Amino acid sequence: MAKGHVVVDSERCKGCELCIGVCPKGSIHMSEGFNAKGYRTAVWVNPDGACTGCALCALVCPDTAIAVYREVVPRVGAANAASN
Ligand code: SF4
Ligand code: SF4
Repeated sequence: MAKGHVVVDSERCKGCELCIGVCPKGSIHMSEGFNAKGYRTAVWVNPDGACTGCALCALVCPDTAIAVYREVVPRVGAANAASN
């Protein structure tokens, strides 16, 4: 299972909330505050580590405000299989 890390560029975000709608893990919320242009912005919230790095949020963002970093966690037993 892959794990994701998401970075939202709050100054690019226009608060359209598209990323919130597509996230299958509910890992993106809206901020309480506003950016310099006066938009409420998306915030990545991932306390339970649910984000898989699927990148749907980045794909849907019309302002290219989201970067997704993905860490692939090896499955248990994969190292043994590779050494045999
Ligand atoms: S990478 Fe996928 S799971 Fe993670 S916040 Fe974006 S849409 Fe949600
Ligand atoms: S899709 Fe992009 S512009 Fe829209 S709220 Fe999310 S980060 Fe902001």
